Amino acid sequence: MPEQVASQSQDEDSACAAAGSRYASPMPDAYVELLDATLRHLEDLKAQGVRHLPVSPATLAALTAPVPRRVAAAAPPSISRAATAAMVSPGLLPMSKLAPPAAATLAPTAAVKLSPTPPVVAPAEQGAFAALLGTPPLAAAEPPLSPEAKEAAMADLRARAAICQKCPNLAAARKSVVFGVGDIHSPVMFAGEAPGADEDEQGEPFVGRAGQLLTRIIQTMGFSRETVYIANILKCRPDTPGQTAGNRKPTSEEMQTCLPYLLEQIDLIRPQVLVALGATAVEGLLGKTAGITRLRGQWQTFRGIPTMPTYHPAYLLRNQALTEKRKVWEDMLRVLEKLERPITEKQRNYFLKVGNQP
Ligand code: URA
Repeated sequence: MPEQVASQSQDEDSACAAAGSRYASPMPDAYVELLDATLRHLEDLKAQGVRHLPVSPATLAALTAPVPRRVAAAAPPSISRAATAAMVSPGLLPMSKLAPPAAATLAPTAAVKLSPTPPVVAPAEQGAFAALLGTPPLAAAEPPLSPEAKEAAMADLRARAAICQKCPNLAAARKSVVFGVGDIHSPVMFAGEAPGADEDEQGEPFVGRAGQLLTRIIQTMGFSRETVYIANILKCRPDTPGQTAGNRKPTSEEMQTCLPYLLEQIDLIRPQVLVALGATAVEGLLGKTAGITRLRGQWQTFRGIPTMPTYHPAYLLRNQALTEKRKVWEDMLRVLEKLERPITEKQRNYFLKVGNQP
């Protein structure tokens, strides 16, 4: 998507100030709050040394559109920094400017005989990142991009992520920005939590021990790493000051800060199915802290995309029980079903008993 560059200059400061006074009296609270939060976010960016913001033509058009006189009754009571970050983040538009997410339109598939799972959890509960995640996907509002335009937009996003300094401690500690790997036209996308030491070293997600297991799962499904897309919520390895080894879980703030990149990746790729790997990815994407044990195996909807939560491959490395492997495998069978991919009898029976694993 072509972008124009808006300079975050003094002129803009005064324009914002003028805008503030223009909005002062009759503006609804939520709008004023949004404006304040936006100004605070821009000031933060400026303090971090950011001088220019890439702005898409659609955002520019939205910014120059007349200010709404009334705010819908359903307007959120408060608007978080994260929501503001999402709005000014390249490629994400103010909620009011976008249509609601399109319903998933996948055709029903033949049932695979799987062991019973708990009842389906109500879709899209509000969670920690609800305001950010509540931003309707561009995918639902805009026609699909041509393959070339999609590749160009992804390259542009990768370039922006490559120089990201939003988390100064992570940026200072990282060896690589681990953006994502695979086919951006793939029907299936896997999302994990954050790069570890191996990923940071090699600049590619899921290349360490857990990654190698994920690769085997993907291959057993009949794909390869090259024919799916793999990314993480965090693009930088969570730093571990004073430690020479080990990884740490991303903080909630780090996830909120980095999530807009993954949202843009998802909106560009528009996979038919998204797989959320592990509790942290599920929390980051779906805002759900219900527990991966309860959620795995149950279809969720994320930005209009059927999303399968499953255990992280690192969990399978720690817990070698066949029953746990079978659970993940059943989740992958559900994914294959949703994609209407053929499933062989052999595939269907993997991990049911010792000796029939791939
Ligand atoms: N764990 C993740 O969640 N992502 C990686 O890239 C590697 C390990």
